[in-house]
Order: sequence, then C-alpha cells, then structure tokens
Amino acid sequence: MTRITGVRTLDVRAPTSRTLAGSDAVHTDPDYSGAYVFLETDGEHEGVGMTFTIGAGNDLCCAAIQLLAPVVVGLDVDGLLADSAGLWRRLTNHSQLRWLGPEKGVIHLATAALVNAVWDLAAKTAGKPLWQLLADLTPEELVGLVDFRYLTDVLDRDEALDLVRGLAPTRAARVAELRRDGYPAYLTSAGWLGYPEDKVRDLTRAALADGWSCFKTKVGVDVASDVRRCELMREEIGDLPLMADANQVWDVGQAIEWMRHLEPFGLRWIEEPTSPDDVLGHAAIRRAVAPVGVATGEHAMNRVVFKQLLQAEAIDYCQIDACRLGGVNEVLAVLLLAAKFGVPVCPHAGGLALCEYVQHLSIVDYVCVSGSLDDRTTEFADHLHEHFVHPALVRDGRYVVPDAPGYSADLHPASIDALTFPSGSEWR
Ligand SMILES: [Mg+2]
Repeated sequence: MTRITGVRTLDVRAPTSRTLAGSDAVHTDPDYSGAYVFLETDGEHEGVGMTFTIGAGNDLCCAAIQLLAPVVVGLDVDGLLADSAGLWRRLTNHSQLRWLGPEKGVIHLATAALVNAVWDLAAKTAGKPLWQLLADLTPEELVGLVDFRYLTDVLDRDEALDLVRGLAPTRAARVAELRRDGYPAYLTSAGWLGYPEDKVRDLTRAALADGWSCFKTKVGVDVASDVRRCELMREEIGDLPLMADANQVWDVGQAIEWMRHLEPFGLRWIEEPTSPDDVLGHAAIRRAVAPVGVATGEHAMNRVVFKQLLQAEAIDYCQIDACRLGGVNEVLAVLLLAAKFGVPVCPHAGGLALCEYVQHLSIVDYVCVSGSLDDRTTEFADHLHEHFVHPALVRDGRYVVPDAPGYSADLHPASIDALTFPSGSEWR
C-alpha cells in the first residue's frame, strides 16, 4: 500500500508587477503567485497542487494548507478516488478550521490547493491526465465525487446522474473531436489595463497573426479611456467577439450607466461588473445591459454562490476558477449546476497555472457534463507558461488536449529556484 507521508508547502511568486502584466481596474500591480503543496508519498509519485494569489498573503495560504494537512497525511494513495467526496467534506468541515470560512477566503483557497494536489497524485498514479481520469469514470463514480450538501433544493444526486448518464454513450466522440480541433479559447493578455495603446495594438496584431479570434479587454478606470480602448480593439479585430472585464470596480447603478457608453462596441459580455458577492446586483445589471451578457465567478467563493447566481438568472456565463472553488470536486458541482440551468461555463484562467488547470476542467465539462461547445470559450493569458514542465498549449486560438499524466501544475526545478519567495533569484 502506498501512503501520503507528508505535506510540504512553497511560496512561489512571479514578479509580474514589474511589467504590469495582469493589471486591471482594481488589481493594479499583481505579482502572480502560487501557494504550492507537495504531497510526499512512500511510492513513486508526489502530488503537486496549488492555489492562486496575486502576491502578498500567499504565505497565509501556505500556512492554512499546513493546518489542513493532517486531514490527508496517512491516506492510501490507491484509495483516493473511493472516498473523494468524503475527503472533501472532511477538509471543508474541519470542526475548528471551518470557523475561518466556512468555504471561503484563505481557508478555502488552501482547501483548493490540497484537493488539486490529491487529484494530481491520483492522476499520476493512474498514468492519465486529470481530464482522462475523470472522463473514464462511470456516471455513478463521477457524480459520487460531489458533495451535494446545500445544493439539493436545486440539484440532487439522482438528477445529476441522469444528466451525466445521458451523455456517457457519446463521450468518446467528443474526446476525438477535441483531440482533432482543440477546445475554444480567448485571449486576455493583449489588453491589460496598465499597457499603453501602442502595446495593446501590437499584441493584438500579433495574436491575430497567431490565429486568435476572440479577445477580452480590461475596463473600469474612466469612461473616456474605456471607449478609446474598445475603439482600438474594434479597429484591430473587426467584428470578432470582444469581451470586457471590470474586475468588480463598479456599484450596480454605476455599472449600468457606464455600460451605456460601451454599447456601440457590441460586447459579448461584461465580466465582474460589481461585487462578486452581490447576486441580486448582478441580476439587475444583467436585465439592464442585455443583449450584452453578464459573466462572473472568478471570485465566487463556493458552489452556493453559483447556485444563487443561476437561480436568480444573474449570469449569462459561468466563470469557474480552479483554485477559488475548493478544487476539482467543487468545480464538478458547479459544472453540473450550470448544465442544469443551461448556462455555458467559460472558466477563468491566466495567473499562474490557471490555464494549465482549467484546460482539464473544460474538457470534462464538454465530454461528461454539458456535451456542448455552444457559446463556450476558455480564458488564456500568455504569461509564465515557460515555468511549467507540461505547459498549456494553444494552437490557432484553441487549447490542445493535454496528454501528460497528472494535473499539469509541476514547475521546472529552475523555476522553483527563481520564484521561491523571498529567497529565489528573482527576489534577492
Ligand atoms: Mg476576470
């Protein structure tokens, strides 16, 4: 029997604020960071997981991971799948640590890192990329990964099972399609708010030449510069789909008023127009700005908030985050909820390792849960992929299906040496 014998954490930070990569209306100087966790075993493989932050406080996530670590130490590696929902419940329902959340904030980010590491270990042990490990499960096994507590008024296990069973016979055809065509993606990294106009124009042209056909820009500093930014993007990309992201900067009424000025640009969605906790505010904005869609979720702290966003008809696009939700198990819960409501899942990515993570989740969504690519596109930002042993690959604006065993967050040793905070060469 192989066991998890210990848990190491590592504070990994990339100095992206030096170039203003990732800058938006609220987060003006992010240092893309990962609170990494390594699950040591007495077997062949180590599980690697992380949660994403933008710099300061990444060490708090590492400390929280260590507080939760006793829940996983001693587990049988070969039995990780058998009681995955139970393990998730034990992590999120720790009788004392849950007071720090529950299921939100630093403690939930730490849960995500540990859960993601457990899944990495399970996938490496099975010799499969994570998406395939999940896509090879029976409908009963897949739905069995979800903790349905707090969801059963809207979605229970039996209904979820019906949904997943209906798509099981045709999974292989969708896998073959994705292997041939890739998964549709859009590009964010041409339009960071701190970039000057010339740089945005140059990056957009280069992206078009690379085959990108869907773009997002940041907005929310002042109306005049947002209008100018959208004009510039339209000049470069013509009628291709364009989205805008306000990163929570507006009040509800302000969002509605501001969006009137952006009406001429035919935006596909406005992302995070207000507080991520304001379900009814999003619903009000959605009613007012249609036919522009409303997208949110990268800061939606758990499946309950997604449940309410969907119940309140507050979103047109469901933006799961691989590290804000409590890892793979809770993401599956939200994929099922979104499928029930017929709302497309368009994951949040970028940052550090988020593209590497969500490519697996989008594949699982299409192959096992939604069965549709309609109106779906997964975020991509072209930063920091050089640090990964198995980086996310994009061809002609679509994610290439990953093949390496595991969940794709492994860093090169040289990158660990460079990015470890504060001792790494990038920080000394
Ligand atoms: Mg965003």
